[in-house]
Amino acid sequence: MAVSDSPQVRVRIAPSPTGFAHLGTASTTLYNVLFARVNSGTFTLRIDDTDIERNREEYERLIYEALHWLGFEWDEGPDKGGPYGPYRQSERLDLYREAAAKLIGESKAYRCYCTPEELDAERKQAQAEHRPYVYSRRCLTNPPTDRTVFTVRFHVPGGEVKFTDMVRGEMTFDSDLFGDFIIVKSDGYPTYNFASPLDDAAMQITHVIRGEEHLPNTPYQLLVVDALGYARPQAFAHMPLILAPDGSKLSKRKHPEANLMLYREQGYLPEAMVNYLALLGWNPGTERETFTLDELVAEFTFDRVQHGGARFDRKKLDWINGEYIRSLEDDDLTARLKTFLPDLDEATIERAAPALKTRLRVLGEAKALLEYLWADPPAPELSPEDRQRVKAAAVALSLLQEWEPVPIHDVLMQVVESSGLGPNATFMPIRLAVTGKKISPPIDYTLALLPKDVAMARIARAIQ
Ligand code: GLU
Repeated sequence: MAVSDSPQVRVRIAPSPTGFAHLGTASTTLYNVLFARVNSGTFTLRIDDTDIERNREEYERLIYEALHWLGFEWDEGPDKGGPYGPYRQSERLDLYREAAAKLIGESKAYRCYCTPEELDAERKQAQAEHRPYVYSRRCLTNPPTDRTVFTVRFHVPGGEVKFTDMVRGEMTFDSDLFGDFIIVKSDGYPTYNFASPLDDAAMQITHVIRGEEHLPNTPYQLLVVDALGYARPQAFAHMPLILAPDGSKLSKRKHPEANLMLYREQGYLPEAMVNYLALLGWNPGTERETFTLDELVAEFTFDRVQHGGARFDRKKLDWINGEYIRSLEDDDLTARLKTFLPDLDEATIERAAPALKTRLRVLGEAKALLEYLWADPPAPELSPEDRQRVKAAAVALSLLQEWEPVPIHDVLMQVVESSGLGPNATFMPIRLAVTGKKISPPIDYTLALLPKDVAMARIARAIQ
């Protein structure tokens, strides 16, 4: 993935602060970070905030927060500054205006006074005649003179637009099919296809790595770059879209699970998230599924990126997250669990850590597993057989000197053996008596995590 020839690699992400931080932003960030790291390049964060109706400042903060949570850091950005600032498009409007004026002056763009109704009529006419719609160029040839509200349209010169995509290879588009597209809206704001390439050029971006939905935008953006006489980026990489399980695009509006912060709240580990996002759309070429960021830097190549959309698979993410939880040191797991278990002290959490590792897929599940430590469950209704087995266990447990998982386990196994049944026949009613639930940490830990007198009192209550 390394590129040897100069200039120095510069990449960017350009999220729009129009809603919660999206999974797609995280995955695009990851690919940019990997590429920048391999090439000792610079990773820039630009905020694409020209959609005045949908932008909010707090959404920008959410983007920072989510990316920081995942461990990503940028070299340049609105909060950091840098040599190519400002890094918010809303603060670069003069640049877009100047560029539009230049293009108009050189007859590479023109003012269009057509009203939305007139354009709609043109579109309907094209539909009725079963031909693809392109703007009629009425305002290029015969503009009305009595109007003041206008957009600016780019005058498409026609011909082929070619570029290199690191995922898809050489791409060719026929710009004769494009029509003269709008580069400045009637509110004076630039369109995405105008502002984005201008900024990429001004910020000396060498490689544009972004979501596949922007692949069809690229030829438009290159026409703008060429018309302004700027250098093109060396290459593009259009990464697969993240799809919902039903195959539709994972969108901010329809899919709450696209919200990155949700994963932090539920207790996914950031390094597991990054690992999962790397595998979503990229195939390492081996069976291996766990990679640290450093390992990804060494392994990742664009030629192993899949071309189609990548379906989000929560089960796989859960599995990877469980693997990462199991690989944590007990003190590390304890530190990460603290916010999920505000009712427990650190020593108790650390004592529970080895048992939790055998059960947790996400940190948030710890609460339900350990709730019995701070909330007294109601006594269960046990069958006469269950009561019998719990009684046998109660006698054996009461004699125990050392209230620790290993001796508890040993003594319970003796009870199990003399019962002539499987372990569950004894463990389940004890578990119900102590926790009120059918699922808890392994039974030896379930008991050992409670003070002995509390555990024995709950057992006694269930069999009295
Ligand atoms: N603001 C665009 C987006 O969030 C940026 C796309 C690009 O990277 O050019 O999709």
